[in-house]
Amino acid sequence: MLSYRHAFHAGNHADVLKHFVQVQLHVYMNQKDAAYTYIDTHSGAGVYALDSFQATKTAEFDTGIGPLWNCTDVPAPLKEYLDLIKGMNPSGKMRYYPGSPYVAEQMSREQDRLRLFELHPADCKILADNFRKLDAHKAEQGERSRGRRVMIEHGDGFHSMKALLPPPSRRALVLIDPPYEIKDDYKRVRDALDEALAKFPSGIFAIWYPVLQRMESRQFADRLKRLPAKEWLNVTLTTNTPTPDGTGLHSSGMFILNPPYTLEPILREVMPYLVRVLGKDAGARFTIEKGTQVTGAAAGRIV
Ligand code: SAM
Repeated sequence: MLSYRHAFHAGNHADVLKHFVQVQLHVYMNQKDAAYTYIDTHSGAGVYALDSFQATKTAEFDTGIGPLWNCTDVPAPLKEYLDLIKGMNPSGKMRYYPGSPYVAEQMSREQDRLRLFELHPADCKILADNFRKLDAHKAEQGERSRGRRVMIEHGDGFHSMKALLPPPSRRALVLIDPPYEIKDDYKRVRDALDEALAKFPSGIFAIWYPVLQRMESRQFADRLKRLPAKEWLNVTLTTNTPTPDGTGLHSSGMFILNPPYTLEPILREVMPYLVRVLGKDAGARFTIEKGTQVTGAAAGRIV
């Protein structure tokens, strides 16, 4: 059953971590002229209005983009993310927040390809509508429309990713961002990555995950470390001490397989700032861990 709608969560601290890292992965991919394929297995709706009924119901953006909006001392790599969002809000008022497909659209180039999958029929339609509006806006500005550059498909992203690997350009950035409302998602991520790495070992795979009390969540990162990728990098952001009843999302992570060498120093620069601005109590913290695959077993260390 598809009950999850990202509109209720848009712009929260987990989105900040995910989309800031995503921006930096694109920055790295853009260092070479050669085209790449961006695959978004769980796309969501693409753009979110923060004044919508869904977004204002829980106002989760107050845990993420809200406190960052007026900061003037943001570290340069985080400013690249913030500038992208400010660009969507030319009036200066924080109204729209990007989903990962919009981030990819803005950060990628003419020669790159976007392959976007979404299973929820309503969100898939909104995603397609949002890209149509973007096209119309580009046409008004005299820019080329997306043409074959962007493909949006209503379907199962886990399943569809396989068929796209390896991409013709042999360069790919994959974002895997399921809702994890059903515990099967944890296993599906691992299985999909196992298959994807067998077909395309050098792809960059970025996996967002919630850090929760439930067993599947606690073991998840350790299991990803055992996947057959040459290197991995794991970053988590915790904004506050978990409540005794375990409700709410206080902590999340981005796990990157085959991370670019540029990412770790950027995380070291930005994560303390995010903890300072988004942290709510003494439980606020970040972790950065990295590791390499050594003869079939993952060797990692906290860095
Ligand atoms: N990546 C988006 C972003 O950062 O803006 C948010 C995605 S949201 C966390 C997860 C999305 O995955 C939901 O829109 C949900 O409908 C969709 N979904 C759930 N299972 C899916 C599947 N097997 N394949 C594709 N989409 C799926």
